[in-house]
Amino acid sequence: MSLIIMRRKKLLLINTVDKRSANDDFFVPTNGLPGFQPIALGIIAALTPEEWEVELIDENFEDFVDTDADLVGISTYTTSINRAIDISVQLQEKGIKTVVGGKHVWLYASEIRDDFDVVVKGEAEAVWPQLIADFENNTLKDFYEGDFINLSDYTRPRRDIFEKYNYEIATVQFARGCVNNCHFCAVPVFYKHAYRQRNIDDAIEELKETPQKYVFLVDDTIYCDAKSNEKIKQFFHKIAESNINKRFICAASIDVYEDDEFLKAAKMAGVRVLYIGFESENVDDLKNVNKRMNYKSSASKYSEAVKKIHNYNMAIMGGFISGFENDTPEKIKERGKYILNSNIDASTLTILTPLAETPLFERLKRENRLLHTDFPKDWIYYNASNYTIDYKQDRQKIMEAFYGSSLALVNCKTISKKFFFTILRSRSFVTAKTLLMLVKNFHVGTQHCWLVRKIIKHK
Ligand code: SF4
Repeated sequence: MSLIIMRRKKLLLINTVDKRSANDDFFVPTNGLPGFQPIALGIIAALTPEEWEVELIDENFEDFVDTDADLVGISTYTTSINRAIDISVQLQEKGIKTVVGGKHVWLYASEIRDDFDVVVKGEAEAVWPQLIADFENNTLKDFYEGDFINLSDYTRPRRDIFEKYNYEIATVQFARGCVNNCHFCAVPVFYKHAYRQRNIDDAIEELKETPQKYVFLVDDTIYCDAKSNEKIKQFFHKIAESNINKRFICAASIDVYEDDEFLKAAKMAGVRVLYIGFESENVDDLKNVNKRMNYKSSASKYSEAVKKIHNYNMAIMGGFISGFENDTPEKIKERGKYILNSNIDASTLTILTPLAETPLFERLKRENRLLHTDFPKDWIYYNASNYTIDYKQDRQKIMEAFYGSSLALVNCKTISKKFFFTILRSRSFVTAKTLLMLVKNFHVGTQHCWLVRKIIKHK
């Protein structure tokens, strides 16, 4: 009697990061964000039949080399699309089928259609069960398009696939989209200005099954219109009632500071850090990119807003941009000093980047002012650390100013000083520690800072 052992089908999911250099003296490669779980791949894993073996490779931790999988799902961003193409070519030579998805693909599906066996446009969770069934029946199509799902039907990610890496911060999603229209932001382009929220009880169950103490609520913003804010407040109240006991990090717009009820609910839930896009201290810059909620309440109120949020025992990581229309090297250095001297607890300084299909991209394309347009190859430049806009300025000096300011904001001395001020201003060591955890995972170089190593180890 012969014994036939059936091998389980295997799905490999790859979160791609392109670490290569471009052919340009000024090019700054992508660093990646090692601390954040690729939640979309967790959802895909959860939608894959149980009899399949599912494995994750997160290139923030290790490079993909080879696989014996039957099917490979490749998740890609604008900056990693070329890495995804290279992986696909390598796998196709071995006869392994490749599927690509991710936000960039939503916009440029036709540009890459020949580079993968299957291109998934839109929300992959809407079509994944069908795609797997087609693969099993040998009827795989080369293109699937997923509609926006109703988030009441949200599939919780399979968190066991994340266990192979040391993710210090869990990612959980409650809402998708944003109703604002900042001209550099791709979120309204992807989600067509819609804002969708999940069922509260389901999100609470997910939090209960999430082992990490630190949770990044990866909603594009937690502060939206009045009706949605009401539901988020209910969610926060439920978190507090359910003794979830986590330390949350969330993104919000600056106008949240005027809403005491909202801040109180966030505090009760355990929100410790708000990531807020300040972008610039200059009103003209804000108008130039349609950052309405910032110039409406006026940049002069930034300090007041931060102080108010500190009163709720929360810290603020501020997102700032350099490379606005009127930015000179001097102005970029001034922005760096402004951030250093402000009461904002930590920051990111990026370069204004016209992401695909955004109003900024479309305007600059019309004006013929995009420096790199040989797509898909040139998407590697669009990582918020390179100048992609032609400003007719001395690029060397602009890059030096950007680098000098960026490094000053994340060196160990600045982080240590800001850390102690955070304890004083938020009156909470836990808040300061949560912020440090975020800083460590946002700015990869800070992992060597003595304070980061000492405090993160502290129980
Ligand atoms: S930058 Fe923030 S507030 Fe503006 S559109 Fe994007 S997600 Fe919304």
